[in-house]
Amino acid sequence: MKIAIIGAGFTGLSAAYKLLQEGHNVTIFERDSAPGGLALGYKEKEWDWTLEYFYHHWFTNDAAVINLAHEIGAPVLIKRPNTSSYINGTMQQLDSPLTLLTFNKLPLLDRLRMGISLALLRYNPFWKPLESVTAASYLSMTMGERAYKMIWEPLLIGKFRSFVPKISLAWFWARVTKRTTSLAYPEGGFLAFAEKLADTIKQKGGTIVYNTTVDSITEKAGKVTVGKEGVFDRVIVTLPSGVFAKMAPQLPSQYVKKLQNLESLGALVAIVRMKKDFLPDNIYWLNVCDSKAPLLAIVEHTHFMGKSHYNNETIVYLGNYLAKDHPYFSLSEKALMKEFDPYLQKIHPGYEKNVIDVKTYAVPFAQPIIPVHYSEQIPPLPTPINHVYLANMQQVYPWDRGTNYAVELGEKVAGLVSAS
Ligand SMILES: Cc1cc2nc3c(=O)[nH]c(=O)nc-3n(C[C@H](O)[C@H](O)[C@H](O)COP(=O)(O)OP(=O)(O)OC[C@H]3O[C@@H](n4cnc5c(N)ncnc54)[C@H](O)[C@@H]3O)c2cc1C
Repeated sequence: MKIAIIGAGFTGLSAAYKLLQEGHNVTIFERDSAPGGLALGYKEKEWDWTLEYFYHHWFTNDAAVINLAHEIGAPVLIKRPNTSSYINGTMQQLDSPLTLLTFNKLPLLDRLRMGISLALLRYNPFWKPLESVTAASYLSMTMGERAYKMIWEPLLIGKFRSFVPKISLAWFWARVTKRTTSLAYPEGGFLAFAEKLADTIKQKGGTIVYNTTVDSITEKAGKVTVGKEGVFDRVIVTLPSGVFAKMAPQLPSQYVKKLQNLESLGALVAIVRMKKDFLPDNIYWLNVCDSKAPLLAIVEHTHFMGKSHYNNETIVYLGNYLAKDHPYFSLSEKALMKEFDPYLQKIHPGYEKNVIDVKTYAVPFAQPIIPVHYSEQIPPLPTPINHVYLANMQQVYPWDRGTNYAVELGEKVAGLVSAS
């Protein structure tokens, strides 16, 4: 079959890889000039490795993507970095049962309750019954208000903003179940990995057309026309549901409404290149447990992957999830850093002397909102348009979005298309 895939993120790339193995003729159309989608990276001229615009790592049990990396000969590195939390003005490691037990900001009883509350979720194999309960109600009830308000409420607010009261416990279950203390990373960065996958696709006879924005999809007599790009037997769209709704005029209004009802937040990061370390104690990931803070996480990438790959620079991400119309999205780099500065000074006074450069990056669609009973809202992979399939990160539930699930989804949709 002649198949078009819209988007060269990991869903599109892995679908292409699988379809080519099954002997199909595959063309990917990508708006950007390189593969990787939300995990896209870049390289400063002084660096040996590429770096993601948005912080990325894998959990060591992200089997689909790690197996794919092994299959195409892309080396994967595994490390055990330090994840800490910034709570009431101090930083404390909090990433394992042992560090929870010694966490002295909560009375022992609260720590034990929190440990039991998280363990009950982690070792529960059944997520479905959890989707009728909100994460906020379960966490505050089982671990108590004090622990919930100190740690989990600020993190939920940072991740979901005003949507917190409707976030499902099934989403939280997925986060807790999948988390591993050791983390994995593709050698050379996610862009290097995506390029290796793209090269493999080309070697297998696939075509990737970059710098091409598809603006319409229409079906007639069993054939699908993709913008001005050509006519295909099957089309896989990996774009956000709302974008797909706008580009396919044949979609029934009921279905369009369903897609438009799926909510999401955007992401904004500042990448700060520095001459010296920003976080102490080799901390890689610092959760900011303060719902009034202007940022959710400080991620010192070079405390995970060595500085030697980046000209001995320190690389720090300052990350945030925000509603698409948040005023931060229209601030200049300088103005955004001015917002962050009072907070950063608390963590590392005088840090600004070490700053080499700051760049900010934003995407409007970064984090799907997962409310209770989300399974009833997910659009199926086949769409109402004949031979057109939708596969994006709003459909990987109960898992949270991630490149691992993009690969799983790509393989799944490829299987459906191939069998159709
Ligand atoms: C801040 C942040 C942190 C994250 N951290 C992690 C992490 O640590 N680990 C992890 O595994 N995942 C992480 N993720 C999630 C991960 O990046 C995504 O789940 C995954 O990349 C989604 O892949 P996708 O192919 O489904 O979609 P996308 O990556 O969004 O790919 C869609 C592609 O379609 C292209 N496109 C859009 N419109 C058009 C058009 N009209 N025509 C042609 N092409 C078009 C886009 O340019 C893009 O390349 C993170 C995401 C964000 C935002």
